[in-house]
Amino acid sequence: MPNRALGADVRVTEYRRLGRTDLEVSVLGFGTSPLGNVFGTIDPAEGRRAVHFAIERGINFFDVSPYYGLTLAESRLGEALIGNRDKIVLATKCGRYGPDRFDFSEKRVAASIDESLTRLGTDYVDLLQAHDVEFGDVQQIIDETIPAMRRIQEQGKARYIGITGYSLRTLVRIAEAVPVDTILSYCRYNLMVTDMDEILVPVVEKHRIGLVNAAPLHMGVLTEQGAPEWHPAPAEIREAGKKVAKLCRDRGSSVSELALRFCLDHPQASATLVGMATCHQVEANLRLLQAITDSELLNEVRILLSPVINRTWPSGRPENQDGTR
Ligand code: NAD
Repeated sequence: MPNRALGADVRVTEYRRLGRTDLEVSVLGFGTSPLGNVFGTIDPAEGRRAVHFAIERGINFFDVSPYYGLTLAESRLGEALIGNRDKIVLATKCGRYGPDRFDFSEKRVAASIDESLTRLGTDYVDLLQAHDVEFGDVQQIIDETIPAMRRIQEQGKARYIGITGYSLRTLVRIAEAVPVDTILSYCRYNLMVTDMDEILVPVVEKHRIGLVNAAPLHMGVLTEQGAPEWHPAPAEIREAGKKVAKLCRDRGSSVSELALRFCLDHPQASATLVGMATCHQVEANLRLLQAITDSELLNEVRILLSPVINRTWPSGRPENQDGTR
């Protein structure tokens, strides 16, 4: 049902090809971790409406994982996709099953896709990604996980395969060692950090790998609500987020709008994935597709953020970390 309470004319008009694949994704993608209550308990009916509203307005790229809400996000997305599966590009993941539960073995990955397909109510995903690769043994991911994912692709259960993670150097190391179709990088290109451009972009361009930029709001740091409890960023990053939120508010603007608009301008990312769980958020974020960045405010924000710009946090096994600043 069309949602008549919301604005009638905001919709996606731009779709980009994901690397060498034949997948055409909306520049604004729907991150579904909030559907798994990752950012706080949501109203599941509203989450379902948000998915339907997004599809109605041309958002066709949905990213999920068995990890989000420990399978809850996949189950909720699966319910919302009844009758809608063929309208979207569906991405899920394998290898991460809890905050400290990782298993990148062939056996687990083969079982994982079948479990995901059941929860998602479909017989294939468009993209299967190894989730948070810096928490795995990189050699195992190269020698065992990726080949196992290629077999899943041959079986028709996934159309393409990719990797995701925070550690840019680990993503690069894997992509240089074994062909992957896509890379999802998160919290490495937004108002707070841009090192994805130096470290990852040259590699995806060289191999024509599809690039997805996730977490434009720095996983909640760049929102009015602020970062959730579990957020790995050190205190000074959270504090800087609060200051930016106040500055934007004082200027009659909104931090999440400025932050998402900034990411939507990225030339190499096929899609920017933002986590959403309400129709209001979907509509607010769609509106930004037609908005122009307030460059004066952006400059002020950059100055305010300069003490923490490109500051990162440790993630993954010690040998896989990028080194923090
Ligand atoms: P995000 O930066 O997109 O921020 C999400 C938060 O912003 C949520 O609390 C959401 O409610 C809020 N939000 C969204 N739109 C808003 C608006 N208009 N106004 C105010 N608040 C708004 O962080 P994320 O959700 O972690 O990242 C996006 C998606 O990318 C995830 O849902 C997931 O699908 C994917 N992702 C993948 C990985 C990985 O594979 N390792 C890591 C991070 C994110």
